[in-house]
Amino acid sequence: MLRHKYIKYVYIFLLVVVLWNYHKEIYSLIGYFIGLSLVYVGILAWGSFDVRLSYFTPINSSAKISENKIAITFDDGPSAVTAEFLNLLRKYQVKATFFCIGTQVVKHPNILKQIHDEGHIIGNHSMNHPNNMGFLNRELVHDELRFGQRAIEEVLNKKTKLYRPPFGVTNPTIGAVLNQLEYVVIGWNIRSLDTVIKDPKRIAKRMYKKLKPGGIILMHDTSEHSLHALEYFLQYLEKTDYTIVPLQELINLKIYET
Ligand SMILES: [Zn+2]
Repeated sequence: MLRHKYIKYVYIFLLVVVLWNYHKEIYSLIGYFIGLSLVYVGILAWGSFDVRLSYFTPINSSAKISENKIAITFDDGPSAVTAEFLNLLRKYQVKATFFCIGTQVVKHPNILKQIHDEGHIIGNHSMNHPNNMGFLNRELVHDELRFGQRAIEEVLNKKTKLYRPPFGVTNPTIGAVLNQLEYVVIGWNIRSLDTVIKDPKRIAKRMYKKLKPGGIILMHDTSEHSLHALEYFLQYLEKTDYTIVPLQELINLKIYET
């Protein structure tokens, strides 16, 4: 059972227990009700933003393995700097996964094709990456996923089965659409924070401090500082016994619909 359903039943059960045992004045009943509801809403908000919880839908955020293998993922491209990321990945013989935004695919179709031709995996990251993704109705969520999918399909002639939620946000509506469209949702458990931190060495240091077997790294192929951070990180990894493997080596996946 998904955690959301479980927590919902616990919440309802506790409300019933409070009502059943109500003997005192109305204010204490209201107090219990407000207290329980605040805790419930707090858990919902936490579950919406933390991909590691798989709160509304199953999310693959890491692999349970003991070998020192990790996977690396890039969001929000393809962009004008993606080709430089590809050069670096080729130099270090690393295969990655790129979660692409539909509008970026429309701007850079040749780069999307190059990512795919060089043996990297392509996933859907919505059409517009809307800031209010967590507040869209079912129809609009469906459009975001389908149009993002279609943009990729028009270039590659393939349907990707992988999806990464923008901002890592999920909720019951997004969970239901992902289920309906049969996506495999990929999260992360090693966040580079490369859209916030601008110092490449700090970003690289943050990533290797968080290294763990089966980890999935989140980066963005959208800036020069991320590119430099990736190079520092790849140089560091060469001194360790960690290897970056394609995502499907960590998690048993069917990447494209045939
Ligand atoms: Zn994103």
